[in-house]
Amino acid sequence: MKLREARRRLPVVESLPPGRGRRVLPPPRGAVQRPALAVWEFTRACDQRCKACGPRAGVARPDELTTEEALRLVDELAELGVGEVALIGGEAYLRADVLGSSDASASAG
Ligand code: SF4
Repeated sequence: MKLREARRRLPVVESLPPGRGRRVLPPPRGAVQRPALAVWEFTRACDQRCKACGPRAGVARPDELTTEEALRLVDELAELGVGEVALIGGEAYLRADVLGSSDASASAG
């Protein structure tokens, strides 16, 4: 299926319908807002060539974090109070240190 045909079948939604009674409560006075979730592109490296991904994945960025930097970032995310980290890629498992970083994230809470 060509991209144009895919877009015709799956039109891009310009806006979401209004919520029915759902609203976001303001934070309590004096409370510091903290991110609850971090989505971390662990690497751009990928050994697949999915059409949906296009040229975005494939080769690791030259400036991706080292293992030491990644572990430091885990500590910083924990200090911020981030409760959940989603490791994405590329293919995160192409980095040998992904399990150590994932374990460190789980240990950090
Ligand atoms: S990053 Fe995901 S979507 Fe992109 S080529 Fe790799 S496996 Fe496919």
